[in-house]
Amino acid sequence: MKHIIIFTDLDGTLLDHYTYSFEKALPALRLIKEKNIPLVICSSKTKKEIMHYREKLDNSHPFVSENGGGIFIPREYFELGVISPELKPIDENDYRIIRLGARYSGLRKAITELQQEGFNVRGFGDMTAGELANIANMSIDEAEMAKERDFDEPFIFDGNKADEQKLLEAIIAKGFSYTEGRFFHILGDSDKGKAISILIDIYRKKFAEIITVAIGDSPNDIPMLEKADIPIIVQKSDGSYDKRIDVPNLIKADGIGPEGWNKAVAGIIAPFG
Ligand SMILES: [Mg+2]
Repeated sequence: MKHIIIFTDLDGTLLDHYTYSFEKALPALRLIKEKNIPLVICSSKTKKEIMHYREKLDNSHPFVSENGGGIFIPREYFELGVISPELKPIDENDYRIIRLGARYSGLRKAITELQQEGFNVRGFGDMTAGELANIANMSIDEAEMAKERDFDEPFIFDGNKADEQKLLEAIIAKGFSYTEGRFFHILGDSDKGKAISILIDIYRKKFAEIITVAIGDSPNDIPMLEKADIPIIVQKSDGSYDKRIDVPNLIKADGIGPEGWNKAVAGIIAPFG
């Protein structure tokens, strides 16, 4: 029997765009638990934010933070020797951490330079928790968690499409990359696809035969969707699918965010476990 592994985005996918609720996905989440299927969160959120949601979801599987910047594997989760020393895992508290992302200080420096170059950008590091809470519709506590960053800097940008193109070029000229989810992001050489590839290899050592599912809603999910056997996107809050996502065999879930997540996942995992 093949083992199924599910990788999921949070914002706008498992979590509602406005309320951050996963209530509409509860039936499928229960099925996943009953069948003991690993559910791996792969988000642009920080370690602290994801840990907060893992607790709410009663999830004890590995997770990926900040758009593929860090892979966090609970210490006893895999047998010894399954994680290659070449990945240079760092042991910190209850986790083995594989670092793929850039240094946050370097990203902040780049944001400051972009501002000096005249780009109207404002990173999470430029905002107070109150300001971020307001923009992202979060509580102050959640905004504090979102500001504790290690690998990736989300930012807001005010400008037209031509300015956006110039901004992208300026970011690349500084040796960084750029992606988009709920916010724009500046990051290093990491993405969600590279991070889940590493986890897929490790799961394969554990289970031999696996089938992978990835679920997202935005361009920052494309590298992850490309790596999965079954790529799924959910509808955006306006009911549309992101037109920039064009991946072979893409499944378009029937529903916005967690509602689409629930339908698609329930259908796919029915034959497993
Ligand atoms: Mg998203």
